[in-house]
Amino acid sequence: MLTFYNTLTKQKDVFTSINPGKVGMYTCGPTVYNYIHIGNLRAYSNADVIRRYLTYRGYEVRMIKNITDVGHLTDDDVAQGDSGDDKMVKAAAKEKKTPQEIARFYEEYAFATQEKMNILPAHYNPRATEHIPHMIRLIETLLAKGHAYEKNGNVFFDVASFDRYGTLSGNTVEKLAIGARLEDPHPDKRNQWDFALWLKAPKNHLMKWDAPWSVGYPGWHIECSAMSVDYLGPTFDIHTGGEDNIFPHHEAEIAQSESANGVPFAHFWLHTRHLQVDGAKMSKSKGNMYTLEDITDRGFDPMDLRMLFLLSHYRSQMNFTWDALAQAQKNRHTLLGALERLAQSSTGGTTLDITAERTNFDNAMDDDLNTPLAITVLLRLATAINTHTATTSLANADEVRTFFTKALTALGIHTEAHADPIPDDILAIAAARDAARAAKDFTTSDALRDDLLAKGYTVTDSADGTKVSKK
Ligand code: AMP
Ligand code: ZN
Repeated sequence: MLTFYNTLTKQKDVFTSINPGKVGMYTCGPTVYNYIHIGNLRAYSNADVIRRYLTYRGYEVRMIKNITDVGHLTDDDVAQGDSGDDKMVKAAAKEKKTPQEIARFYEEYAFATQEKMNILPAHYNPRATEHIPHMIRLIETLLAKGHAYEKNGNVFFDVASFDRYGTLSGNTVEKLAIGARLEDPHPDKRNQWDFALWLKAPKNHLMKWDAPWSVGYPGWHIECSAMSVDYLGPTFDIHTGGEDNIFPHHEAEIAQSESANGVPFAHFWLHTRHLQVDGAKMSKSKGNMYTLEDITDRGFDPMDLRMLFLLSHYRSQMNFTWDALAQAQKNRHTLLGALERLAQSSTGGTTLDITAERTNFDNAMDDDLNTPLAITVLLRLATAINTHTATTSLANADEVRTFFTKALTALGIHTEAHADPIPDDILAIAAARDAARAAKDFTTSDALRDDLLAKGYTVTDSADGTKVSKK
């Protein structure tokens, strides 16, 4: 029985889909004002594993992942509609580009990076800026139903009008009232915990649209409520995001959607725990905000990162270290090595019974996607395959290979063994070394050789010049 830990019910619930055989799934996508980082990739890889495993179990999955190109309000304060600037506009001013140019640039990067991570593309990636009329209509419905109010061109959701507020995050109105901060609340709000649906734009605000209340811009939460209903209907199966989305974003989505549509919103809420780096939160100022290029520049394959993600359960704390990544790379090579042996195994010989391990794999994944256990099963199977093929050929090599490939595909690991690419900067050092040797500048060529060694590469001289490979 497939079970998922549901943040809404705070327990593992047996998964059943609303429509037999079909699953509708929504993932909060990137805010495209900056490069997506490996933390985002953990959340998106996990959403991809959910989708892939449902497909493995025979479901037809429809996946929607939005693009937040309006530039949402940053910290909790601001997400509640109190103040703050638009991230995208700030970035546009800094880089002297239009917000739209910036958004498209980072959107492209986000797509390309996810493709390298073997994250399946969503069926639709709706952009917030292309759904402003839908958001306005939704806000009108909320106003008409008495769940929202307008003042001075700003519109807020009246949290007190929705009695299930707090069900997802535990932040009920009572708790919010106790914890209410002393700083100045937005003067147009009835209650400090109400959140913005529409805000009047200051004069110098670049991204603004005409609405019945003011020339302004939507609050962050309303985008996902408006776009999910467009592509999945008012009720759908699974909503995912990172743990920071639980409050206020997802709590607000539920309040808006259920108040407007009068039916339950998503049935299952799955949240990925945040990735840490060297035991700390990733941040630009600490210099530990890694992108996928930081990983591949050190000679790792994107699939090594994917393997590393699988080695921790998505709801457990995960700490990124280079040592752990190197171990993940070894594990991946072991699995692909076994697959290679299966491909080369001649017919005949004896059978390897994989019934038990196949069940173990399914049971691990059925248990709220226990990927570390699923990988353990596959590594054990790899050992059995290696032992078996070392002594005799495998009568059921095709059957074993089919299962192995299917299992790796469900986890999102590429099954073709491809050599890890040597990063461009390493190749450049190797070329510079060749040039120094040709000029008989051996001091420089030796220094460059030491540099390559220090960066983790072995250096050999060949007729074609310097050859480097990962140590
Ligand atoms: P953002 O672009 O900041 O809205 O983030 C996009 C998605 O990545 C959201 O679902 C976030 O919860 C998730 N996310 C952000 N930082 C991390 C992190 N360090 N680890 C895991 N997920 C993250
Ligand atoms: Zn969202």
